[in-house]
Amino acid sequence: DLKGRTAVVTGSNSGIGLGIARVLAGAGARTVLNSYTDDEADHALAARIAEETGAEVRYVAADLSNGGEARRLIEEAGECHVLVNNAGIQHVAAIEDFPPGRWDAILAVNLSSAFHTAAVAVPMMRRAGWGRVVNVASAHGLTASPYKSAYVAAKHGIVGLSKVVALETAEEPITANAVCPGYVMTPLVEKQIPDTMEKYGMDRETAIREVLLQRQPSKAFATAEQIGQTVLFLCSDAASQITGTTISVDGGWTAL
Ligand code: NAD
Repeated sequence: DLKGRTAVVTGSNSGIGLGIARVLAGAGARTVLNSYTDDEADHALAARIAEETGAEVRYVAADLSNGGEARRLIEEAGECHVLVNNAGIQHVAAIEDFPPGRWDAILAVNLSSAFHTAAVAVPMMRRAGWGRVVNVASAHGLTASPYKSAYVAAKHGIVGLSKVVALETAEEPITANAVCPGYVMTPLVEKQIPDTMEKYGMDRETAIREVLLQRQPSKAFATAEQIGQTVLFLCSDAASQITGTTISVDGGWTAL
């Protein structure tokens, strides 16, 4: 279990990050939740997970589009044995219509934030003598789709970053990997449905099956809980020689 370990999960007041935080807290990790908001609901969510799991859980607001804020998040955690870089945003548009500001924001949140958090967390792991970096990439870290230039570029980037961190810590009891989910039903996917319906002129059901799940041979969404259990496996002793690689949880997407 993860008793005595501290886990920081970025972007964890919703969706996959929340699922991961629940699983890690359930395994006994002192867990830090994060997003860019600082609402009562965010702190109440941390208190609820603490109550559900018996673990110490707190919420630290930090806007990860800003590198300094990403570094402060880890500093405020005080220690970090398990770093899960999960925060992510999406924008869907043809490259010629892609707003440059959205490109910059996606690269900052989905990729650069993981550089900044790891830069502070890896020395903490070294001092603690144990660590796990888990980057939540995507099937789009390994393959591409049209209209997602920034997202695909950032996700390929974070797969590369995971490999570099793995090599820099290879002889130490620290691993770094990327988990590559296919489609998981979360608010981020929910928000893509209207765009997809409009772009392809489809109703909701057709857009889900034919476009979103078109490349997911299982024709089923993965769950946030399943992504959390994959992260927990990477934290186990059984996974101590798994480093610098990717684990797909994508219903067969990348087998196509
Ligand atoms: P989501 O929108 O539910 O969650 C994203 C999280 O990131 C939220 O907690 C949000 O508040 C946070 N966030 C966004 N901008 C932030 C910022 N500037 N600073 C701090 N936090 C910020 O989406 P999700 O589907 O749970 O996505 C989580 C991760 O999983 C993302 O990296 C996403 O790319 C990846 N992913 C999702 C799917 C999927 O099907 N849902 C598939 C593959 C990969």
